[in-house]
Amino acid sequence: MRIDLHTHSTASDGTDSPAALVRIARDAGLDVVALTDHDTTGGWAEAADALPADLTLVRGAEISCIDGDGISLHMLGYLFDDAEPEFARERELVRTDRVRRARAMVERCIELGAPITWERVQEIAGDGAVGRPHVATALAEAGVVADVSDAFTPEWLKDGGRAFVDKYEITAVHAVRLIRAAGGVPVFAHPAASKRGRTVSDATIEELAEAGLAGLEVDHLDHDDETRARLRDLARGLGLVATGSSDYHGSRKIIGIGQFTTDPEAFAAIAEQGRGVPLLRA
Ligand code: AMP
Ligand code: FE
Ligand code: FE
Ligand code: ZN
Repeated sequence: MRIDLHTHSTASDGTDSPAALVRIARDAGLDVVALTDHDTTGGWAEAADALPADLTLVRGAEISCIDGDGISLHMLGYLFDDAEPEFARERELVRTDRVRRARAMVERCIELGAPITWERVQEIAGDGAVGRPHVATALAEAGVVADVSDAFTPEWLKDGGRAFVDKYEITAVHAVRLIRAAGGVPVFAHPAASKRGRTVSDATIEELAEAGLAGLEVDHLDHDDETRARLRDLARGLGLVATGSSDYHGSRKIIGIGQFTTDPEAFAAIAEQGRGVPLLRA
């Protein structure tokens, strides 16, 4: 069983449509894939309709959060009921603020001399929840940076960078509670991805575990071997499941789908706790 529990489509900042994504997942030999777009379930229906034979779809999302120390983090939610109103309203607030914030980042880029436009960024984002990778794509197209990842520097869009603007984020404890209240299963995405910025303390992870966190995403490109070993120990000590996933973004990141995977036992523990929507199988 090959299980990848973290991927992005054009519903947020991936480059494959939800329908293409499930085909790519099956072609890559996956048995289970989770669709986890940033702050949206907008890709769920298309992925479900296009689901190939022999692939199980886990419907999810990756929620933009902030912890008590002011550190931004990402919380994966699996199998929650997307119609549960309180959580749905919070996701909408985040998405709405993403538009304000992307416009503000474009303004900053223009002030810094980059020949980009909000109209072009909107075209690149399409119907998807707009984010920094869309602005980064515009910067790369304009020749300001060599590629998308080169825009994530202090000169441009990295956290605290010259053109960076904050967005509304849900507190992480609240996100865990909202996901659980909607019948979902919260897993902390890439909890120690230090190249993205400051990472949370163990105390924060303990607090999240008490609030109902189910797992930690341990095997991720942004964690080195030592970090993975440390997180695996932490997960074991707190009774959390350890997952692994690609965080596939299509051509916007170098990683291939299925490049990191989750053990079947860990997946079974997550699936068992999901009450909001069922696993989908064609
Ligand atoms: P946002 O949610 O708009 O703040 O954008 C964050 C997203 O940017 C992440 O989910 C990644 O997809 C992407 N990202 C962050 N750091 C990098 C990087 N160094 N290279 C490429 N993409 C990145
Ligand atoms: Fe992303
Ligand atoms: Fe993430
Ligand atoms: Zn992600």
